[in-house]
Amino acid sequence: MDPAVSVIGDLVPPTVGRLCRTLGRAGFRSWPVGGAVRDVLLALMTGGDPKAAAASCDWDIATTAHPDQVRSLFKRVVATGIAHGTVTVLLDGVGYEVTTLRGEARYSDGRHPDSVSYVDDIRADLARRDFTVNAIAYDPESGKIEDPFGGLDDLRSRVLRAVGDPAQRFAEDGLRVLRAARFVATLELTLEPQTRKAIRASLGSYRQVSAERIRDEWMKAFRAREPSRAFRIMQEHGLLEITAPELLAMVGCRQNRFHAYDVWEHTMRTLDACPPKPLLRLAALLHDAGKPASRAFNHDKGDYTFYEHERLSRDVASALLPRLRFSKEECSRVEALVSHHIVAYDGSWSDAAVRRWMRRVSPELVADVLELSRADVRAKGSDATAELERLDELERRVAGVIADCSALSVRELSVNGHDLMRELGLPPGPELGRILRELLELVTEEPALNQRDALLERARRAVGSADQRPEPDAPIEADRSG
Ligand code: ATP
Ligand code: MG
Repeated sequence: MDPAVSVIGDLVPPTVGRLCRTLGRAGFRSWPVGGAVRDVLLALMTGGDPKAAAASCDWDIATTAHPDQVRSLFKRVVATGIAHGTVTVLLDGVGYEVTTLRGEARYSDGRHPDSVSYVDDIRADLARRDFTVNAIAYDPESGKIEDPFGGLDDLRSRVLRAVGDPAQRFAEDGLRVLRAARFVATLELTLEPQTRKAIRASLGSYRQVSAERIRDEWMKAFRAREPSRAFRIMQEHGLLEITAPELLAMVGCRQNRFHAYDVWEHTMRTLDACPPKPLLRLAALLHDAGKPASRAFNHDKGDYTFYEHERLSRDVASALLPRLRFSKEECSRVEALVSHHIVAYDGSWSDAAVRRWMRRVSPELVADVLELSRADVRAKGSDATAELERLDELERRVAGVIADCSALSVRELSVNGHDLMRELGLPPGPELGRILRELLELVTEEPALNQRDALLERARRAVGSADQRPEPDAPIEADRSG
């Protein structure tokens, strides 16, 4: 027996074992199956941490029991997908999807099987699954695995292969081609040639996939060590052209002499250089999407420029992300990261300039902007030492600002609107906001002034001051758009 298989029994969480025994006592068979079995076996084969894999997976169970029978055996059961035979059993606060063995079905719409038919044979159930590595079941009664399609061998040789005829399987359900791209990245597999070939022929069914499901797959792909593996497949095989055609202009778009790669290749490398936070990586995917539209040749410099590309990139994000059903908060976070990804810091900045930059970016996003900017610099393919040092220095100065508890928002001032109304007899209204913003400007320049008496004194002077000066902005920054 494969050494990985001989120990998998010890890695099945005790609650999953209990769930299967309960079904067993009632005369039903059951098998942990799919993603969890795959991830634990993969961890065992690649010297990863199988315990961590077992703990972080969602364990799904295939069973001969029908949903009603499962419901009668457990106290807390939610009918999560009853139409296709799935209920969620809650044990010790964790949900386990328990699905009745199902056979292959006809798909007329490229999304849903026309009907669901239950079967008794685990092998028939495994045959309807998408990839061989996902079609492995563990039998807790015998301690053996069911692996009719060679998923274990494919895991060992790190290959992603469709179960059965790839073209047919992809035509049945368009999500599978996107799952293929995602698994290539998250499991670090390569596409088996026939499976690879079938993708482009199956784009018709991919067009039927809902935006929400695409978004969810993207978010999973972003957690991979190298998410670029998924996005390269999407680009090469036409998925991206369907979902996000506005990103394709990056392919082959030449950059200035500081870059070794075109915009797309640079973007792929930025994606991988970012820490594995999905929204940060989404921002990385989009950070230069406006470059192709902003590219101009400057004859004096003898090189390309990309003025204001961060604004155009943000516009791409604002068009694409709502279409992919990202939430308002997610959209604005990513748009802000994209807008601010060029950090024009140099050592000449005063402390006040650092504070103004933090305010402009918004203090909460500063850490992510620095991460994105670092990834961006690293992905240029040229010596990044000086630029990274520059970012490190800014990070140290940012840490200093945070340690000093400098006020970076009106909320952090030592006076608030109520104080101004009470002490200065001001009525509620926009004047209050104007004065508070003026005080914040003052404190940004001179943090020591953030004291109640000093601020009230300044506020008194500001009352009625007719000159409504515009808010000073951060320092005018040199163009580093290349
Ligand atoms: P992850 O949980 O990491 O997203 P997974 O493989 O566990 O990956 P799930 O969506 O949890 O994916 O599905 C569990 C199992 O159900 C899969 O391993 C696979 O066997 C099967 N499956 C899921 N989606 C499909 C699909 N679109 N077509 C065929 N089988 C699928
Ligand atoms: Mg899963």
